[in-house]
Amino acid sequence: MTERATLPPPTRPDLAVIGAGPAGLAATLAGAARGVHVTLIDSAPQPGGQFYRQPAPGLGARRPRALHHRWRTWERLRTGLDAHLAAGRVTLLSDRHVWCVERNTDPSPAPFTVHALLGPAQDESVAIRADGVLLATGAYEKVLPFPGWTLPGVVTAGGAQALLKGGLVLPGRTAVVAGTGPLLLPVATGLAAAGATVVALVESAAPKDFAQRARVLAAAPDKLAEGAGYAAQLVRHGVPLKLGHTVLEAHGGERLESVTVAALGPDGRPVPGTARRLPCDTLAVGHGLLPHTDLADGLGCRLDGPAVHVDDEQRTDVPGVWAAGEATGVGGAVLSLAEGHIAGRSAAARLRGAVPDPAEWAPADRARTRSRAFFDGLDGVYAPPARWAELVTDETVVCRCEEVTAGAVREAVGSLGAGDLRTVKLLTRAGMGWCQGRMCEAGVAGVAGCAPVPARRLPARPVPLGVLAAQPDRPPPPPPDR
Ligand SMILES: Cc1cc2nc3c(=O)[nH]c(=O)nc-3n(C[C@H](O)[C@H](O)[C@H](O)COP(=O)(O)OP(=O)(O)OC[C@H]3O[C@@H](n4cnc5c(N)ncnc54)[C@H](O)[C@@H]3O)c2cc1C
Repeated sequence: MTERATLPPPTRPDLAVIGAGPAGLAATLAGAARGVHVTLIDSAPQPGGQFYRQPAPGLGARRPRALHHRWRTWERLRTGLDAHLAAGRVTLLSDRHVWCVERNTDPSPAPFTVHALLGPAQDESVAIRADGVLLATGAYEKVLPFPGWTLPGVVTAGGAQALLKGGLVLPGRTAVVAGTGPLLLPVATGLAAAGATVVALVESAAPKDFAQRARVLAAAPDKLAEGAGYAAQLVRHGVPLKLGHTVLEAHGGERLESVTVAALGPDGRPVPGTARRLPCDTLAVGHGLLPHTDLADGLGCRLDGPAVHVDDEQRTDVPGVWAAGEATGVGGAVLSLAEGHIAGRSAAARLRGAVPDPAEWAPADRARTRSRAFFDGLDGVYAPPARWAELVTDETVVCRCEEVTAGAVREAVGSLGAGDLRTVKLLTRAGMGWCQGRMCEAGVAGVAGCAPVPARRLPARPVPLGVLAAQPDRPPPPPPDR
């Protein structure tokens, strides 16, 4: 099935934007306003992405803004999207999980085909033709293992946030929020504001880590104000902030009952005598974010470390493919909006055969420069404890899908001589399950003492065999030139 028939006549180039978060929405509005038809595709039922995740309509939320920041920006994006949808300049395909973007060897009728699985059953695939592709797929959470992390009641920080914003439910009544990264702040304050007792926010970054970046922080007064706002909310809700601390273990029988936290010494090890047990029914834990690069990787786009490489126009090194937002590096919603705006304007011009004038997006460029400088300056502050892997006991399951323990991973390295992540995977099956390492790769790499490698997951989503079998016969897409 193709959605081409629903699109306007091919007088306007078609841009497929994958991801309807801040970056994808900004790109869609910029592109549609400048003469391209945009097909906006997202796996979620509604646009908004992670930052502007909306409550399901059936819940009848009376004040959805209560859980949000920068609501006016969301209203502007939503109003703009609605206007473009009504005018037929944008087609919105929600609930579509893109599993592959194909570069067509014969570019007629279009150079790219985007393959997406439909809805919750995901047993049917649609193909969307496009002249250009803009990847705005955001980031996913990094969670490192520790004893007890698989107990019911332990959720990811972003998962807790998603339950709250999308389902208007609390993951529990008494929560500890732990790990590292700026995401912990809205999660702790959001849970507290929604009525949970937040026993503590446990952040492994120490006060001295922030003090060392005082100049970076001082150069971004808006970020300082945002941080101060969160601090004030923590105080108002009586949430203790434990900087330079970590969770050692989660305890419970059938489900989580308490966690042990301890102060970290300068060597990254827990300081003896500082361990404290905190009763709770929920642990919301996260250790940062990693860019979603599966689709870019499948297209053969160059990666810089964990992120998609882009130029000043947000173009990847594959002609006709742009990337924006956290897929190109984690840096928050403001940076995603700026990158999306620039990418959308660049794509609109290039797809119509024109050379864009960067002066036209100067304010977005300045926002991009400021945000990138801020997050580069913070680099290293939000890092998991240097010795976290030593705290993972041999019995701890590190790969949940395949139920592989830390002991098995250590044996693969120690006794069986595995020297890289791929060999560890082949010997233990760690990372071979449903999530294909999305959840466990960083943890397995840390326990194994192997360097993490850029994720290579094709297709980008698990695809039913029936869907693959139903694809028309044609040669497979050319492999990336790497
Ligand atoms: C779980 C989670 C929760 C977060 N919560 C907050 C928060 O509360 N406050 C905050 O300041 N920051 C939060 N962040 C950080 C936040 O992601 C960014 O600051 C901002 O949303 C990034 O915008 P983006 O457009 O780059 O990506 P996102 O907002 O992540 O949007 C990406 C979109 O792409 C879609 N997508 C990805 N892959 C595919 C695919 N293969 N097929 C179809 N669609 C796809 C996703 O469904 C998503 O809607 C969160 C991050 C995560 C991972």
